[in-house]
Parts: sequence; structure tokens; C-alpha cells
Amino acid sequence: MLDLLPGSRDFGHLFEITPDAIANKCETLRIFSPEGKNWEFPFEAYVLDRVVLEQRMAREAAKLGAEIRLGRPVRVFRDDGDIKVGPTESESLEAEVVIAADGFPSMAAASGGLSCDRYALPQNLAINYQYVMDDLDIEPHVTEMYMGTGLAPGGYGWIIPKSPTTANTGIGIRTTFKPRKGRDLLDYFVHTYSLTAERLHSGRIRAMIADVLPVDGAVTNTYSDKLLLAGDAAGMVMPTNGGGIPTAMLSGRIAGEVAALHVKNNEPLSNYEIRWKEAFGRELFASTRMRRLADVFMSHDKLFDYALRILGTSGIKKVVTCKIPGGVSILMRLLGY
Ligand SMILES: Cc1cc2nc3c(=O)[nH]c(=O)nc-3n(C[C@H](O)[C@H](O)[C@H](O)COP(=O)(O)OP(=O)(O)OC[C@H]3O[C@@H](n4cnc5c(N)ncnc54)[C@H](O)[C@@H]3O)c2cc1C
Repeated sequence: MLDLLPGSRDFGHLFEITPDAIANKCETLRIFSPEGKNWEFPFEAYVLDRVVLEQRMAREAAKLGAEIRLGRPVRVFRDDGDIKVGPTESESLEAEVVIAADGFPSMAAASGGLSCDRYALPQNLAINYQYVMDDLDIEPHVTEMYMGTGLAPGGYGWIIPKSPTTANTGIGIRTTFKPRKGRDLLDYFVHTYSLTAERLHSGRIRAMIADVLPVDGAVTNTYSDKLLLAGDAAGMVMPTNGGGIPTAMLSGRIAGEVAALHVKNNEPLSNYEIRWKEAFGRELFASTRMRRLADVFMSHDKLFDYALRILGTSGIKKVVTCKIPGGVSILMRLLGY
């Protein structure tokens, strides 16, 4: 994490994940171009057991005094200068600060008066479809990413191993590239695509999830009077790789600290935006600019393949890890990205 987001150095403890919440550790990332050429480089990553991780976090929060209420979506109610939160207005509680961490699109943000601005545009949204599969025969420490318009238009397909026999297999697509049904594309990836079908076809599908992710960077205002937005609710997903867990953890932590200091010492909520930008703003902004530029290439498989060949292993690694390769930076400046 320190390598990926150097500004997060004060939050190292957040990423000390307890072993029972780590399903697997990957060591290599392998990337396939639309024409099937591949590049790989060392990339250490935890594959999380999110149920274990989130239950542990919830237990720790409860130990520290949080009261957890489940089962009903909440929204924000504003009345003059006051802010309240709850499933209905009559059941709502008055708050000094509300942290909207309710994913994307955020009902708490919208009802609290912070709009998702450019996320009304479909090109800024990715739709992810994922199977959890077992009975596979895969390399347990290699994460794979597959590009190509026939497979994952505007995004990529992935195999993330959880063990030698289990994996998350998924695709992230953008409907503005090619309006096709995501589930059909995922089935194509698993059962038909020449580079993956042999290994995935005979596996057993245990579960499926699908969700929409914001992939155009943080919303313009991540705070307002008495309201902070964290994680996907604030658009904090890295657009070039779709990763939003580390930024959700960092922004959630920073939001909690800023809210506490606001309540105790009346420190301004604007510190939230300063602090999350220090932690990962540079990488989020770089990743957003690169996704916008990559959109030009990703519509044409041959052109995208050519771009990946020019980037080579070190350039591809930089893009995937949200850094701008030297040559690309010049191109961006010339084209105004
Ligand atoms: C298929 C798929 C694969 C992904 N893979 C990766 C990956 O490998 N690595 C990575 O870093 N990221 C990945 N992501 C992205 C990652 O899951 C998100 O960026 C991350 O979960 C964001 O965390 P969050 O806490 O902001 O929001 P969420 O995880 O969406 O949590 C929001 C919570 O709020 C609850 N909620 C929603 N509305 C309300 C409401 N009105 N009132 C109360 N509660 C509400 C929801 O039920 C949910 O529990 C993936 C996403 C998908 C869909």
C-alpha cells in the first residue's frame, strides 16, 4: 500500500489485515491484451474474505461504543441548520456530523444535498459482474486481467484466485462502449473465450454479484455543512483498475477522525478534503485522467493492443498502479487530458 499510495503512510495499521480475513496472497499480476499477448510483473496482493473482515471491523467499532443497526436503508433529513439521519424522518436521529459511506449511488449524499454531479453520465460508470467459482485448476498466486471489446468493452475481465481451486472471475464493462448484457459477457469469459474457457468452463459457479462503480474520480464536493462522503459514495474508486477497498478504508478512517475533531474542538470539516487528498488524491486524479485517455484507445482492439505493446511491462505496471508513465504524461499534456 505504501508503494501504491505513498501519502497513506500514516495509515499503515489499517492494512495490517488479520490472517483469518486473508483468503489468499497473490504475488504476480498478468495482463492480456485484446490480441492475447501477455505481460506480467510482481504484484503482492491480499485476496480478502470480506465477510470476516467487515464483521471484525463491526465488532471492533461496537467495542469502542458504536451502536450498529441493520436492515433498513437510511437517508438524511435537513431542517434549517440541523441534520438528521434515519429510515424515516420520524425515526431519525439528530447528528452533529453524518458520514455517508453507503456505496454508489449514495442515497445519504443525495438526500443530504450533495449531488453525484458528473455521475449522471453513463460513460463514467462501470458495471461489474462476478462469479465466485470452485472446482477450478488455476495458478493460486497469479491474478489475471484480460482486455478486449468482445470480452469486457471499456473495462477488463479478471481471475482472482482464492486458492488453487477457487477464484473470483468477473468482468467490469462500460455500457457506452458496446451495449451488451454483462451476464452474457461473463458467461462468454467463463465458457467460450479462448484464453480462459479451458480453465474455467468445468468449474462450479457458487455465487454471483453485480454492482455499479463510479469510475471518474471523486465527486466535486466530498463535504458540506455537517456531511462527509467516504468510499464509493464519494466516487473514490481508482478508475484504471476498479479498486475501491483501500480508498474506502482510508477515507472512512479520515472522515471518522475529522468528524471527531469537529465535534470535540470545532475543527472545520473542510480538513476532510485536504486530508484524503494528501493520502490518495494524486493517484486518484492520475488514474481518472488515464482512464479518460485510455477510453480513446479501448474502443479499438488493434489500437489498444498497439498502445499496450508500446507501454511494455513497466508502462503497464505504472498505469495499473495509478501512476502516469513518462511518455503518456507528454501525450496527455498535448491532448489536454
Ligand atoms: C464485483 C466487484 C468486484 C470488486 N473487486 C474489487 C477488488 O478486487 N479490489 C478493490 O479494491 N475493490 C473492488 N471492488 C470495488 C469495491 O468493492 C468498492 O469500491 C468498495 O466496496 C467500496 O466500499 P464502500 O464501503 O464505500 O461501499 P460498499 O462496499 O458498497 O458498502 C456500502 C454499504 O452501505 C450499505 N447501504 C447502501 N445504501 C444504504 C442506505 N441508504 N442506508 C444504510 N446503508 C446503506 C450497503 O448495504 C453496504 O453495506 C469490486 C466491486 C465489485 C462490484
